[in-house]
Amino acid sequence: MYNLRQEAQKTANALLYAANVNKPPIRIDNIINWLRKNLNFNITIFKSDQYLNYYRLSGQLMRRGQNVWILINKNEHEVRQRFTLAHELGHLLDAYQVAHMTELTRNHNPERYANQFASELLMPAELVREEWSKFSQELYPQSCNSSYQKFSMYQMKLWAIVLMN
Ligand SMILES: [Zn+2]
Repeated sequence: MYNLRQEAQKTANALLYAANVNKPPIRIDNIINWLRKNLNFNITIFKSDQYLNYYRLSGQLMRRGQNVWILINKNEHEVRQRFTLAHELGHLLDAYQVAHMTELTRNHNPERYANQFASELLMPAELVREEWSKFSQELYPQSCNSSYQKFSMYQMKLWAIVLMN
């Protein structure tokens, strides 16, 4: 049985592992270099807004053989641009897998896959757990005793570390 979430998670984890990105912040440039070297993708990234704004898009991926162009909407917030880039890489690797799959599955949704992939890539569960156990000791003074407070501190710290590079 095909499980979209699991597949996206597996691919993102495998990519992080292969590219040797094993601690936050997640370096997307290292990941892209790995894809260039090992899957022979000739990846070019453009930051633009004209075309994307017109169609109200955050990004777009174009591919001709091994040549890959990724357009990122430069008008959007940096954090969003980072997610967009990861999302477009999700499309790239999704297409890569589909091309190598023997049977196509019915319940495959490329947009859901790309979003799931981007979340897994930028905030991999394994790393989040590790970082959390590190911070939970050093970060929480006794004064911070409600679990809600702890949770929002945790979230803030994660955003700062994982997303803000
Ligand atoms: Zn998409």
